[in-house]
Amino acid sequence: MTAPDLAVIDWSALDEAGRSAALSRPRQLRDATQLDAVRAILAAVRARGDEALREFGTRFDHCTLDRFEVTDSEFAAAESGVDAGVRAAMGSAIARVEAFHAAQLPAPLRVDTAPGVRCEQVIRPIDRVGLYAPAGSAPLPSTVWMLGVPARLAGCTQIVLATPPRSDGSADPSILVAAKLCGISRVFKLGGAQAIGAMAYGTETVPRCAKLFGPGNTWVTAAKLEVAADPEGAAIDMPAGPSEVLVIADDSADAAFVAADLLAQAEHGADSQVLLLSPSERLLAAVAREVAAQVALLPRREIALAALAHARLIRVASLDEAVQVSERYAPEHLIVNTHDARALLPGISNAGSIFLGAWSPETVGDYCAGPNHVLPTLGFARAFGGVGVDSFLRRVNVQELSAEGLRAIGGDAMVLARAESLEAHARAVDVRLAKLALPEPHPHPTVGHPALESPVCTSMCSRSPARDGAARNPGSPLEGEGSTGASMSLLARARPELAAFKPYASARRAGFEARIRLDANESPWDLREEGVDIDAGLNRYPSPQPADLRARLAALYGADPAQLWIGRGSDEAIDLLLRAFCRAGRDNVVAFAPTFGMYRIGSALQGADYRALALDADDDFALDPEKLLDLCDDDTKLVIVCSPNNPTGTLYHGQLIEQLAATLAGRALLLVDEAYVEFAGVPSASALIERHANVGVLRTLSKAHALAGERLGTLIAREEIIELVGRIAAPYPLPTLSVRAALAALDANALLRTQARIALLVDERERMGKMLALSPFVRKVWPSSANFLLVRFDDSRAAFERLLAAGILVRDFSTQPGLANCLRITIGKPDENDALLVALAGEAR
Ligand code: PMP
Repeated sequence: MTAPDLAVIDWSALDEAGRSAALSRPRQLRDATQLDAVRAILAAVRARGDEALREFGTRFDHCTLDRFEVTDSEFAAAESGVDAGVRAAMGSAIARVEAFHAAQLPAPLRVDTAPGVRCEQVIRPIDRVGLYAPAGSAPLPSTVWMLGVPARLAGCTQIVLATPPRSDGSADPSILVAAKLCGISRVFKLGGAQAIGAMAYGTETVPRCAKLFGPGNTWVTAAKLEVAADPEGAAIDMPAGPSEVLVIADDSADAAFVAADLLAQAEHGADSQVLLLSPSERLLAAVAREVAAQVALLPRREIALAALAHARLIRVASLDEAVQVSERYAPEHLIVNTHDARALLPGISNAGSIFLGAWSPETVGDYCAGPNHVLPTLGFARAFGGVGVDSFLRRVNVQELSAEGLRAIGGDAMVLARAESLEAHARAVDVRLAKLALPEPHPHPTVGHPALESPVCTSMCSRSPARDGAARNPGSPLEGEGSTGASMSLLARARPELAAFKPYASARRAGFEARIRLDANESPWDLREEGVDIDAGLNRYPSPQPADLRARLAALYGADPAQLWIGRGSDEAIDLLLRAFCRAGRDNVVAFAPTFGMYRIGSALQGADYRALALDADDDFALDPEKLLDLCDDDTKLVIVCSPNNPTGTLYHGQLIEQLAATLAGRALLLVDEAYVEFAGVPSASALIERHANVGVLRTLSKAHALAGERLGTLIAREEIIELVGRIAAPYPLPTLSVRAALAALDANALLRTQARIALLVDERERMGKMLALSPFVRKVWPSSANFLLVRFDDSRAAFERLLAAGILVRDFSTQPGLANCLRITIGKPDENDALLVALAGEAR
């Protein structure tokens, strides 16, 4: 073979296709027969282990081995097979490689990404690694230290090396010496695809390895890619292709140096590729001449000449353009032999290893400079770096959250999980946050006057002290009575005809689950699947009382899920209770006035007599329980106490409620409407249910939870009452969308925000109370435990209109008995409240 004509290609004269062709790599032969053979070898090794290895050794390496692992005596014998000078050079090369790689060891890191969220990265070695050192025509002991040194530095507990045996059954001595110098004691005389199979799957004698490293011929490479694609195989360092070098040189370069570098690469193999980019016509021509002269003198000239057949000498317009072309090619090795080589470095990123300046031949990088020589070929340098210590390490992430930490970021996790429709993900956070939402058991649980005793515990998170196992209120005078009255069922007081009343047997109530649902006359088509932009599953009826929402609200209210009935707002629960207990034309409901208007209307619709004790505005709507009880008779089924009361804001929680409950035991349901209790800072009366079978509590998401649009309210009561209400309720009271929205909205972060909003509104309420009281047109502002103020004006009509003219709407109660000139003002955001104050002040002018 003679020196090829290294013609110079002019980059600027090439069109796009020409440029791609100029940078094309020698075609990799993808031989389907070879791939089949590789797969068969791997399968045989996997199935028959050492026996298969032995057969393949006979067939491919022409030697039949009893034992594959190199013995101590073989190691010892290898020493004499390697020249002392070579051994010394190996030692110093290894020392330099070690020095460079030791500096790569990463430090573990620890960052608190939020308060209570500790994130760490700990570094762990890959326990068992398998290295492959080719032997064949040119043994590459350098590969042994380029892989063995970082593996040892990384701390891999087991390092296995495979290298093909020679036909006499021995391993190449230089490979064994190098292995010894690197501290690798387990060397196996195995080559080709079978060596890769043995390390990936393990055999009787070869340990199974988690990751395989090293170059090799097409058999080795194909086998590595196969085992990497098999989850039961092994990871690999990177796909390996033929070696390549790209040289950028300018007029200052010595043509002999450049030619020598090109040939150093060319002698690797016929498929190696060498490229030279230069703006200098003179240099390009000189290098072509030098290559021809030098190749003739090389021992491996045949291989080099074959490789030169796909060499490229390219004239570029400038060094900048040379860098651009190199970036496009992404060479394994890049030699920059220019006047100011370092000046080009900032512009280079797509290269496996870079050699700067006239005195940096690639050869030093191949053996002994320090950096690794296992590098990305075939353009993989665009995405991969070379092998280093980190190739033998795993960075293991650690996350440790405190309760505070989960509160801080759990909400984000849930939102994101649900955005990906991964509900179970969200719930894994949710169950924890729900638990965190429960308070520590109160040391002195009380249902006494809470405003005095428990100013900070909002009943958002109150929990029945009795169920928590905490002591009951020892001071309660009704304690003894309560425990007898407690068990007195109230069902006997419900409408008698309901005792035998069978609820409508809706399809979902039957409780069956099946893959194909043909039971509810629903449409089988989910519109979401047809591309309509709505929630999935809306073609199906919802669960009548979804367990997840029940559990969530139970946690929120500190109640037992079985004691909850959820409806479309507490309005629905009021309506159902009236219907469940009151016989039309006979029974009555007792409440006071002023209070929430729906009690009267609901009673009237049911045909029940509604008896309201008039409270005195001048006495701050004080409630005398005896007077309320005086209104009750044998036909009283419901006594309703709204606390804090709408529209007065008065709080009646405490002893009064318990007294009513005890007195009404077994006779009437005491319904405590706690629509606004979150603003009162008192424990919920639901704690009384434990002791008083006749207490029902209404809670709602419409006020403090800022979810009025969801229309979700809850009755908390003894199970028998819940069951009764459930029986007479409409088949599917809860819309799917509301349930989903509530679940999404009621995460623990939302609860924290709710608490913040409540605190702000309470502050604003107090501020507004003071400010309004200062107005010359306001006669009275009643103290309020809710999110509104009842205000008496000199002329409520003028005030109402004045506010309306300013775009502010309040509620006119002036026509209600005892509330002449009264307006109810809901507390808004601070700026809205300011606007109201300004508008009212305007009235003064
Ligand atoms: N109870 C009271 C005292 C109320 O003021 C209201 C609404 N204004 C309700 C119940 C009804 O609330 P929901 O939105 O839960 O139906």
